[in-house]
Amino acid sequence: MTNNERVNLLKEIILCKFGEIALKGLNKSTFESVLVKNVKRRLKGHGSFEMWRAQSTLYVYPVNDDTDMDEVLDELKHVFGIVKLCRALEVEKNMESILNDPLDYLTEALEDAKTFKVDAKRADKQFPAKSPEICAELGGKILEKFPHLSVDVRNPDVTVMVEIREKYAFVHADSIDGAGGLPIGTSGRGMLLLSGGIDSPVAGYMMAKRGVQLQAIHFEAPPYTSERARLKVEKLAEEISLYCGDIAFHCVPFTDIQVALKDNCPEELFTIIMRRLMMEIAQRICEKENCSCLITGESMGQVASQTMGAIVCTDAACRIPVFRPCIGLDKSEIVEIARKIDTFDTSILPYEDCCTVFTPKHPKTRPILSDVEKAQASYDFEPMIQKAVENTRFSIIRCGEQTVNI
Ligand code: ATP
Ligand code: MG
Repeated sequence: MTNNERVNLLKEIILCKFGEIALKGLNKSTFESVLVKNVKRRLKGHGSFEMWRAQSTLYVYPVNDDTDMDEVLDELKHVFGIVKLCRALEVEKNMESILNDPLDYLTEALEDAKTFKVDAKRADKQFPAKSPEICAELGGKILEKFPHLSVDVRNPDVTVMVEIREKYAFVHADSIDGAGGLPIGTSGRGMLLLSGGIDSPVAGYMMAKRGVQLQAIHFEAPPYTSERARLKVEKLAEEISLYCGDIAFHCVPFTDIQVALKDNCPEELFTIIMRRLMMEIAQRICEKENCSCLITGESMGQVASQTMGAIVCTDAACRIPVFRPCIGLDKSEIVEIARKIDTFDTSILPYEDCCTVFTPKHPKTRPILSDVEKAQASYDFEPMIQKAVENTRFSIIRCGEQTVNI
């Protein structure tokens, strides 16, 4: 068999390096199993794969030769729990193959580099050649084939890695960044209050990154808010689902409550009471759906309803924790994440949110809780809250689907 024929038979696999999971103690295997399940779900529709775990790495091995590895890599880049990803060539576990087969494969990684080094990892300690020998010999072969390169062991442009494993050896160049975080589902379930703005999709992404399985709730106030405003929010949910997985989406009819509020409560407390009522409804849906926390896109001091005093009044209406991962971020930092996760362009589409309907001219920035409670108690919102919960519409936003056009 010629060298070229042999190279054509070689297989490319993807190595997924686990992040923080690697540091877990006794629970490590539970975290890893959830991650593998998430990866399998994510790769459905992209072919069949064999997978195995070893030393905080998941080896994803395509069964069919026609698997589109670019697509697979793109999917895996969105899976939380993976910090680094790399494509690797599987070669026979003997020195001749290790020294010859990867040379063509490495062209793409090495042609634009100036310096490189070779590292070797021998999981199979029985393999006759020791690491320094593997590195020196493959390094020599690489220098022969790519004479423009020189070796730099301290700060190379590219590190070529040889891994000697149980059945095969794998050779790869540098890895790319994965999504980081913890596997979705390892930190329980949370209900994201999703508006059409920039902040709440980012908040959802940040909590999902820490392993929270998201559901989303959106309050709409037709005819003050349009169908397009709701579609915009569904589109945002689709966009974050690329990272967060399928999202159960609850859409709450909020018009009657807002009108009653406007007619019966002091204008300057309108927003704060509205937010307390949103929290109340969201918590009732959390109970039904077994979600243990609320998540919002609030950031300290960003607007009147997000001052310390306003947040104190909002939280007083909450029986479960409210997580606000954007609380300490500046708008520009939130925008940076929104751009990274590709929600920004949708978020800035100019459709109104129910929060902007009937906004008071002079909202209280330092509301007193007892005043707020008294004002809220002056009207019986309970029947309306119950009706809003009953009439909440439910749908599922499927991971990575792009169905909404606005
Ligand atoms: P965002 O950019 O996320 O819209 P914002 O800065 O516009 O946030 P607010 O409108 O005060 O801030 O809303 C604060 C938070 O309340 C939002 O981040 C979101 O979590 C929640 N929220 C606001 N409006 C709605 C809505 N219509 N449906 C669901 N949640 C909402
Ligand atoms: Mg908003």
